[in-house]
Amino acid sequence: MRTLIEGAGKLGIKLTTRQVKQFELYYQELIEWNRRINLTAITDYSSVQVKHFLDSLTITLALPEEGMERPDFNIIDIGTGAGFPGVPLKILFPQPPLVLIEPTTKKTAFLHHIIHKLELENVEVLNSRAEEAAHLPLYREQFALALSRAVALLPTLVELSLPFCQIGGRFIAQKKGEIDLEINGAKKAIAALGGKLDQIKKIELGEFNDARYLVIIDKIYPTPGKYPRRAGLPKRRPVQEVK
Ligand code: SAM
Repeated sequence: MRTLIEGAGKLGIKLTTRQVKQFELYYQELIEWNRRINLTAITDYSSVQVKHFLDSLTITLALPEEGMERPDFNIIDIGTGAGFPGVPLKILFPQPPLVLIEPTTKKTAFLHHIIHKLELENVEVLNSRAEEAAHLPLYREQFALALSRAVALLPTLVELSLPFCQIGGRFIAQKKGEIDLEINGAKKAIAALGGKLDQIKKIELGEFNDARYLVIIDKIYPTPGKYPRRAGLPKRRPVQEVK
């Protein structure tokens, strides 16, 4: 885990022995399960450390200042797949409750397994699409921090994610590539869902050979009850195109 340890150091994170062991175990289990179910195309030791583990930890660059120490701070990761970015963040910060949303049952089986294996506490795995979970009172506008990586284009993603944020909460989307175009296309959706674009943070780490960003969106108004629309619509007909 040398690559991860060094990369994390550049983020100002000093991983403990226990955390390094957890990441090591995470890697082994990910590879083992990946033989049977499709969890990731990235499998070599070094790439997983950088593109999954370190990339997930870059979220720490955008955490709200008063964040993690608040006793009521909680996190939701939408479309977490094999647990990214939620599980690496949980390894780093064991305290805040974490909800992982993932509609693919095979992936949630892995999530249950890895949580148990890594002895992570206070993690809930929700086998659901965001469009459905976001209308349940238990989850709607209940989270201080919502996260999502590689799930959808921003106009769709804000509809899937912002409904989970409390007023005063924050949504961080991890993005790659042509960000300006995506942001422009998402302006209407961000406003319609009760959000306000705070900033776009470029990740400046030599470990990545492509452009990566954290899009930080604050939740300032309640999300109207009609959002998110029924399953599939946020992707098929993103808010910007609705007359
Ligand atoms: N976030 C993980 C990562 O970065 O490795 C997984 C990314 S994977 C490309 C996209 C994931 O989003 C899939 O596991 C998929 O099942 C999930 N997903 C797609 N549509 C979703 C929806 N409407 N609600 C919740 N999750 C969704």
